[in-house]
Amino acid sequence: MLHYLYTYPETIVDGEGIRYSIYLAGCSHRCKGCHNPESWNPKAGKPLTQEVLEQIVQEINANPLLDGVTFSGGDPFYNPEEFLPVLKEVSQRTGMNIWCYTGFTYENLLKLGEANPKIIELLKQIDVLVDGPFILDKKSYDCVFRGSTNQRIIDPKESLKKKKVCLVEKYYPKDKKKNNKRERMYI
Ligand code: SF4
Repeated sequence: MLHYLYTYPETIVDGEGIRYSIYLAGCSHRCKGCHNPESWNPKAGKPLTQEVLEQIVQEINANPLLDGVTFSGGDPFYNPEEFLPVLKEVSQRTGMNIWCYTGFTYENLLKLGEANPKIIELLKQIDVLVDGPFILDKKSYDCVFRGSTNQRIIDPKESLKKKKVCLVEKYYPKDKKKNNKRERMYI
């Protein structure tokens, strides 16, 4: 059974707006400088039982301030078989937009998806994917919503449709000087 480390009922650092974050256990990337090495163990934290999931859905639906839900970890793609039904249930029962952080690159996931269609199904359910491992040498405080500059903020649905990586353009303003304050928040 999928394990989770913790949930944050309201956070502004795991994606745009006020979000409910769910940190899932299990990660195989072992990034140097990982913010959360205890999350590597898939049995860390507590089991994400149907009861817990029910509680999460209720908390999300009871909070009118929320803009979306974020899955992080660990790496939610560590266990695609068990992550898929959880993602579907949260998405369908809350109607929230979904962000997901993964240590795999989008290209890695497509490759893995050739053998495991659940990975592609997951990508179809996610609105924004923040991809790639954390690279200590590329750590930057300037890239909001990402830990290192190699990581990308991707629209996976559009990327699948167009068969190429489509970044979420609003987080990559072309001319920093001309951008308004709201856009500058994302640089
Ligand atoms: S992908 Fe994230 S959780 Fe996994 S080792 Fe890298 S930084 Fe840590």
